[in-house]
Order: sequence, then C-alpha cells, then structure tokens
Amino acid sequence: MVTETTKDGVTWYVCEKCGMMFDDPEDARQHEANCDAEDPTYLQ
Ligand SMILES: [Zn+2]
Repeated sequence: MVTETTKDGVTWYVCEKCGMMFDDPEDARQHEANCDAEDPTYLQ
C-alpha cells in the first residue's frame, strides 16, 4: 500500500513495493496498482 512521508515540510506518497515517491496520492496509487517490484524476477 501507499505510505505517506514528510520531507522538508512536503508530504510524499511512497510506493511500499519499490520505494518510488510521488507528490500526488493518486499518482502513487496508480503506480502501485501497476508496480511489479513485489514480484521476484521470473523466467519466461
Ligand atoms: Zn512501485
């Protein structure tokens, strides 16, 4: 899930899976919905 963090007085929304930070919570949620960082490297 997306977590919030405050840095220099600015709230950031962080993807828990990969650590990417967003200033818009919707951007963060949309990113995380498509984030596959949680999945291990897989073989095809
Ligand atoms: Zn992510």
